[in-house]
Amino acid sequence: MARSIFATSLCCIDGRIQIGIHDFLRKNYGVHYIDTITEPGVNKILAEMEDVFTINSLYQKLLASIAFHQSNLIAVVGHYDCIANPVNKELHIQQVLKSIEILKKMQLPGNPEIIGLWVNENWEATLIPNSFEEEQGKEPLSI
Ligand SMILES: [Zn+2]
Repeated sequence: MARSIFATSLCCIDGRIQIGIHDFLRKNYGVHYIDTITEPGVNKILAEMEDVFTINSLYQKLLASIAFHQSNLIAVVGHYDCIANPVNKELHIQQVLKSIEILKKMQLPGNPEIIGLWVNENWEATLIPNSFEEEQGKEPLSI
């Protein structure tokens, strides 16, 4: 399927992470624009599946990005020094992987590719391995 020029970032509100996410997606996926859906500590919210109101709101925003911009790449992001989700990197990554599972179960229209990103202490985004089975031939980046 041809890649849309839009991707969708599902990330924390933290302003320090946005440029790294955008740069990574533009450089590695050839997209031009990144629709950005933010919620403080979003990977925790999705992984825990307790805050149904917020999850429904995130879902509606994903549907909008897919419908309006034909986005077929969604990046779920965890990041260093997250005030809303102050857990270690390992747990962040587990939460991102769990979030990906949950998003896949939502059966979003167009069956978008869903990847996980970690934004490190230099505010650079890197791909989280094991979240991109479809992408054979692409080496996982070190995190
Ligand atoms: Zn955060």
